[in-house]
Amino acid sequence: MRVAIVGGGIAGALLAWRAARAPGGAAVDLFTDGTGGRADASRVSGGLVRGFEPTVAATGPAAESLAEIRGSDVLREWSGYRETGALYVLPAGADAREPAAVVDAYLPGSAEIVGRDGVIGAFPFRTLPADSVAVVERHAGHISPHRLRTAALRAAAGAGVTVHEAPVGEVTRDPAVRTADGRTLRYDRVVVAAGAWTPKLLARSRLPVAGLRTKHIQYSLCEAPLEGLGPFVDENSGLYGRPHEDGGFLLGLPSDRWGVDPDTMAPDEALARRVAESARRVFGVPVAVGRTVASCDCYHDPAGLELRSLGPGLHTFTGGSGGAAKTVVAASRKAAAALLA
Ligand SMILES: Cc1cc2nc3c(=O)[nH]c(=O)nc-3n(C[C@H](O)[C@H](O)[C@H](O)COP(=O)(O)OP(=O)(O)OC[C@H]3O[C@@H](n4cnc5c(N)ncnc54)[C@H](O)[C@@H]3O)c2cc1C
Repeated sequence: MRVAIVGGGIAGALLAWRAARAPGGAAVDLFTDGTGGRADASRVSGGLVRGFEPTVAATGPAAESLAEIRGSDVLREWSGYRETGALYVLPAGADAREPAAVVDAYLPGSAEIVGRDGVIGAFPFRTLPADSVAVVERHAGHISPHRLRTAALRAAAGAGVTVHEAPVGEVTRDPAVRTADGRTLRYDRVVVAAGAWTPKLLARSRLPVAGLRTKHIQYSLCEAPLEGLGPFVDENSGLYGRPHEDGGFLLGLPSDRWGVDPDTMAPDEALARRVAESARRVFGVPVAVGRTVASCDCYHDPAGLELRSLGPGLHTFTGGSGGAAKTVVAASRKAAAALLA
């Protein structure tokens, strides 16, 4: 089977690697943008990985991916996995038991549900709404998605994948790929895994954008005395973050900028100021904002990186919605199996 994959982020790279190693072995052509240095989502991603998500549907692929990374010397090395634990704080009244049970099935003994006072006692939160609940995970931390993508691309090439450093101009329903230099190449399967560039490429190809859209994501590297706090999400304030290798703390808040152009991303300074204000209020410490990193991702409702059909032989593999670093290991295995079935 001849397969073309468009995009060399974590989604395209891991799918190419999985497809080339599958029984029967597909002949895979992977098309990257050829720039080598673009600030795609996989390059700037915060790389937080944990098993727990607020829904069972989202927890499954995250916990499965993390279990596979932890259980594999190769994936631990490729991804640069650092196990620091994780904290996920939910609003009052949320029920964490079902997703926490899913985490437990993949990562036994990792997740513990704690109440508001447990969070305030163990982590540097000054304030949390009454009746908040949280999930503390032992087996969680962060990876480097860029390092994972680079290693997967190298391994894919070693497994026989042909990497074309040539941007794709259009995809067609044949299915085929038209490279920007005018060649038309036909395949049995074509997969668009171009992250936030996917809607643009589909529109340029006069294909339905199929519910995919882009959204701004940014975080700021801050100076803040947050000893004892590892990777965290606080749904009450919206804050998320993790300690950064350079000694600072990476902090972010969700953006509401939809439909952004991935080629013209710039920091939202007002959002960066809100991050500092919110962190000062929640943690009660001084917070100084340094560099802000802005990029975007491809979103889908329901959220999740998965293979979606656009017609016979033509698919997308995107829609990670700001969270595919967590799920790509499991999602790429499932997608390769479905693609080659
Ligand atoms: C700032 C930020 C922080 C994040 N933090 C986290 C986190 O902590 N945890 C988590 O789980 N997730 C996080 N994410 C989300 C996660 O990083 C993304 O979901 C994931 O990296 C998306 O990978 P991708 O391969 O789909 O897209 P990308 O990494 O964007 O890759 C798409 C690739 O396709 C290429 N391409 C585009 N058009 C073409 C074309 N025409 N021809 C050839 N190639 C093309 C692009 O150049 C790019 O290299 C974060 C994202 C951002 C932006």
